[in-house]
Amino acid sequence: PLRLGYGAALHRSKSTHPDVKERTLIAVKPDGVHRRLVGQIIQRFEQRGFKLVGLKMLQVSEDLLSQHYCQLTSKPFYPSLVDYMTSGPVVVMVWEGHNVVQSSRTMVGPTDPAAAPAGTVRGDFSIHVSRNVVHASDSLEGAQREIQLWFQGKDLLNWDCCDQSLTME
Ligand code: ADP
Repeated sequence: PLRLGYGAALHRSKSTHPDVKERTLIAVKPDGVHRRLVGQIIQRFEQRGFKLVGLKMLQVSEDLLSQHYCQLTSKPFYPSLVDYMTSGPVVVMVWEGHNVVQSSRTMVGPTDPAAAPAGTVRGDFSIHVSRNVVHASDSLEGAQREIQLWFQGKDLLNWDCCDQSLTME
């Protein structure tokens, strides 16, 4: 792949490669936005080599939240989770690349920051499960469901990275 010049790489589409089109939903939660962590979190995903294909900032509604967290609505902490997630804007993103769902979960760390290793987003930036800074889809099926919930198809962009042939072969 290194023999390819920049121009050739640009024109060699890898769009048929199944792995590289995997997508996941990542959200910087209100505490992350308040604490000006958006840039650092985006930087980690860019640095790792993933591709940003969608991005927006919004004030989340309780309705959207109840769909997003449909498996948690009966949990005792759900009301405080709603308060937390609606306490300010959220920055929600779709990232694309090889194994992005699982790799993102590793980068983000366990749900409870107390158990999160240093080097993970939660391990570096948070101390309590009720303020854990970031969301990452936990499975391929979950990612597809969440992406459809948060984004319209037209707001997700297909674009080729100039370095795609170097990172994917
Ligand atoms: P994850 O976000 O790691 O996928 P879950 O889906 O289990 O974890 O939980 C969703 C979110 O609910 C967590 O990220 C956290 O913000 C909140 N949460 C989970 N468990 C608790 C808890 N015991 N107390 C307060 N908030 C919690």
